[in-house]
Amino acid sequence: MLVRSLDAGWSRGSIVAVDAGVHLSAIARILEETQPPALGDEVALPHVLESGPFAGLEVRTKSPSANAAHITRQLVDTYLITHPHLDHISGFVINTAGLPGTRPKRLAGLPSTISAFKTHIFNNVIWPNLSDENNGAGLVTYMRLVEGGSPALGEGDGKGYLEISDGLAVKMFGVSHGHCIERHSHRGSTSSSRIGSTDVSMMSPRGAPGSNAASGPSSAFRTTSLARSSGGGQEQESICVYDSSAYFIRDHATGREVLIFGDVEPDSISLSPRNLGIWQEAAPKIASGRLRAIFIECSYDDSQTNDRLFGHLAPRFIMEEMRALASEVETVRQNPIKLETTKKRKRESDAAIRRANRIAARSSGDDHPVSPKSTRPRGSISGSDGVTSPIPTPIPTPHLATPTAELTLKDLDPTVQAAFPVKPSSVNPLAGLKVVIIHVKDNFSDVETTGEIILSELQDYEKDAQLGCEFVISSKGESFLL
Ligand SMILES: [Zn+2]
Ligand SMILES: [Zn+2]
Repeated sequence: MLVRSLDAGWSRGSIVAVDAGVHLSAIARILEETQPPALGDEVALPHVLESGPFAGLEVRTKSPSANAAHITRQLVDTYLITHPHLDHISGFVINTAGLPGTRPKRLAGLPSTISAFKTHIFNNVIWPNLSDENNGAGLVTYMRLVEGGSPALGEGDGKGYLEISDGLAVKMFGVSHGHCIERHSHRGSTSSSRIGSTDVSMMSPRGAPGSNAASGPSSAFRTTSLARSSGGGQEQESICVYDSSAYFIRDHATGREVLIFGDVEPDSISLSPRNLGIWQEAAPKIASGRLRAIFIECSYDDSQTNDRLFGHLAPRFIMEEMRALASEVETVRQNPIKLETTKKRKRESDAAIRRANRIAARSSGDDHPVSPKSTRPRGSISGSDGVTSPIPTPIPTPHLATPTAELTLKDLDPTVQAAFPVKPSSVNPLAGLKVVIIHVKDNFSDVETTGEIILSELQDYEKDAQLGCEFVISSKGESFLL
């Protein structure tokens, strides 16, 4: 996906790419469709394109591939990679060697993503080391982004944002993209005594005796240690949660933002749920109208069972996440002034109240999604067939088991609970928000595509939920002006 600030025009380095699974060939295809057919003959060169996503760009040859190469070489400087799965990086990896420009491409992402590139891609085995580290060719420079934003950068609304191109700045958050389906213990990462997630790279330092950076676990995984009871005792098993990321991209000139997710799984079945934090970050931006579009994956339609999601979303979970977002937006709208001063504490207490409500709703037979942090898979370690089937089971959260004074009052007071209902109370809390569905897996059907099924399922849910957001299935070559 390509993002550009309108203010920057088509200047050098003005385009930022988010992932690059196909990239060059996709750009060439767009140009094939939008260049005038008579380009180079009746239509003189150079020519300023009049339509399509590249309208306004001057092209110098009649060949769509040559023009695509020019765009990639000169206009795209920065690649924000959400996670290092092949379908998100292959275009970048292959095109970079063939199209050397005059300055290195910046490859930005989670430190674990960069580490995966160093160890598994640009390692002189799978692909030459094109990077500028370890005596590489210098075509790629790594940028390790800080999760949750760079604390010392930016100010005001742009606080924490890192400038990555002319007019665009970025803030990145890690998200969960499923977990390792093999049942095993990674070296150096077994049996952490607490329930939670830990960065495996801290526990298994490179070069430490007994560790092998090349064949050991990539630090793209975090380990999560799960307690499960068997017989009379408690066992600890560790499994690996695979990290992906989501990017808020901000246009300096207008303050407008877009939120783009890499592959992601729902909080309610994740072993390391982090989507709620992103919704809390997004809510004030939606309430103020600065964030108008979210690009989020929906790989499957609802016929895919939970144990076959492999770290992805389906429409029922998109809705679950959108309800969580809507609830955060309502909280902001209901109490914008207090939120400014006690934002963090309020978010935490609201989340605890919602958790309590959801657990209460479940126990009364209402099957609303449970809060991520109250969810632990029931016996969720992979079976011998390598397939896990994590069924959410609510357990009391630490907040509720040992509540603070503030939480006790709110948790026990039914009038406060009524003010934070499970369902968003106002009509259309997400009005004006475009939810663009990406990463739809093709079902190769000529009757009804997965995209069409997903859209109709989402629209059915929306009839009931009345969130007010508009669902759009993205298609190749489409452009959005935000
Ligand atoms: Zn993936
Ligand atoms: Zn993917």
